[in-house]
Amino acid sequence: STEYIESFIDEINSNNNDVETPLYPGSAISIRDACDRLIHYFFPLGCRLPRTIFTLFKMTNNDYRSEVSVRCVECGQVLVQSNEEKCSTFCIHNGKHRSYANKAELAIMNVEIEIKRVAERYINLINDYPKQAEHLVPCDIINGQIYHQMSNSKSERNITIILHTDGAPAVKASTTIAEIPIPLRDWKSAVMVFGIWLASSKPPRDHLLKPITIQLQKLMESKILLKQANGSHLWHNVRVQQAIFDLPARAHLLNIVQYNGYDGCGDCFIKGM
Ligand SMILES: [Zn+2]
Ligand SMILES: [Zn+2]
Repeated sequence: STEYIESFIDEINSNNNDVETPLYPGSAISIRDACDRLIHYFFPLGCRLPRTIFTLFKMTNNDYRSEVSVRCVECGQVLVQSNEEKCSTFCIHNGKHRSYANKAELAIMNVEIEIKRVAERYINLINDYPKQAEHLVPCDIINGQIYHQMSNSKSERNITIILHTDGAPAVKASTTIAEIPIPLRDWKSAVMVFGIWLASSKPPRDHLLKPITIQLQKLMESKILLKQANGSHLWHNVRVQQAIFDLPARAHLLNIVQYNGYDGCGDCFIKGM
């Protein structure tokens, strides 16, 4: 697959010593030469497989869907050129040789297009499930107190977003829609990806979530126009009910100490022991 070839090529480039290292003891060719030959064996001359999501999006005409940038892995500063040494003055990588490990790729999706893509696919369920949920799945989030206390809950047309981040060190901000019934809600075809941080370590606070929350905020104010099954278009409210993180990610994103440290509770003032 493309992904495999990509990491393969990147690995060759990052391990410069493989240029000299023989393929096996006594081998006449180096690891690098062997890889070169393999690639040329499998792919014809002039094969230009995309090496980054940047070029992948461009090649697949998905440009408008996302904003991809190369960042400093530590401070999150945008790097105009991928080998750019300068980032932020306080950063440990500033002014030093920019190796592969000190770079990150950040992709922020167009949140409106992502919500449309999924919500229009399941529009009948989104319109009907909230009316039936009380009888179908009494313990579901959409029958809960908080869901009903949120603004616009009397309206029949809501898109209620649940945010998750998963994966380390490559972090994905994915979201689901509460009005889509379980288990379909968590199926791949119903999950939206709002952002991805690809790097050897987790994203600096804000760089992944801030561009997403800014877009969400706008949609909460403007509402979203969704195509209905009969071809007409109706406005739906956009709301955000909750964000689910694992404990290390929760501590990192809320800027509090880990759960095993003093003052580790995000809800109360207990010191710990
Ligand atoms: Zn930096
Ligand atoms: Zn507590």
